Amino acid sequence: MNRVRDGGRSARRLSDHIFACQQLPGSWCQSNVGIVQLDEVGSVALIDTFATESRNRQLRRAIEGLGATSISVINTHFHGDHTFGNSIFEDGEIIGTQVTAELMEISGDDLVRRQPMIDFGDVRVTPPTRLVSPREHLPTDWGGLELNEFRHAHTASDLTVYAPAEGVVFTGDIAWNGVTPFVLMGSILGSIESLEFLLELHPETVVPGHGAVGGPEILRGTLGYLHDVLEYAEKGLSRGASVWKTAEEFERGTVGVGVDPERNIANIARAFADLGADGDFDIVENLAVMETWKVRRHEGPGPIQEGSTSPEGTQQG
Ligand SMILES: [Zn+2]
Repeated sequence: MNRVRDGGRSARRLSDHIFACQQLPGSWCQSNVGIVQLDEVGSVALIDTFATESRNRQLRRAIEGLGATSISVINTHFHGDHTFGNSIFEDGEIIGTQVTAELMEISGDDLVRRQPMIDFGDVRVTPPTRLVSPREHLPTDWGGLELNEFRHAHTASDLTVYAPAEGVVFTGDIAWNGVTPFVLMGSILGSIESLEFLLELHPETVVPGHGAVGGPEILRGTLGYLHDVLEYAEKGLSRGASVWKTAEEFERGTVGVGVDPERNIANIARAFADLGADGDFDIVENLAVMETWKVRRHEGPGPIQEGSTSPEGTQQG
């Protein structure tokens, strides 16, 4: 496969008409972008965009330099690291689901405040202008793209893009490679169902939302992690353990899957909610707990002591 390196990003040819721009290792706001040649006269579809204005402007220049005459964007979901570049490409179609458009309006540029270390540049939230149905076929000169919407997987609406003629599937953030999945805003159970669907497609090439491109083992890896999360949450709930305690047990009993392990506690919290734990589920509160967990479990002096001011007991699922 052809590769062009550019700092932490590299463009890689996956098949006759499909490329991926990877940002490794794929941590927060290092998401992947797909480039699909739709025809022979220069129509190109991007699958998602980058998080920052400078990366998106650079991407646009590079694609136009290769001969693109019209560029559309397909958004896999509403998160800003995948959609903040929409405004750079708004002279073309921005394609996504109704729910994604609504969630972009609601969340706005929240991500800018949650990731203060990143220079996002000028962020103008630009929701999809062409809304697609849950199963949609986008024609190309060479066989077309199948768009499938999943409700409550990584978010309340995730769109995957599959090119059956070339065996490539773009999963958005339903699948992750070498990066801890993040399912706080979606559903563990829904993610498992969607991954099983994607496996049934038998793709040769899988482009995860974050992490390196690979094969179906990426789908199986994410699936295995989520089954582990679910299993530990079931055990924790049945014993009346807290989310915090259960996340500690999860990290002691499983091997990590990659960068950003602070997401483990968020995923356990999500699993508690999926399994019907009592109490309201508050995403903002759980994001704050995740930050505490990151400092104390992964960057701090050591494991938190029982009885200290831990979120133990304040967690709800
Ligand atoms: Zn996401």
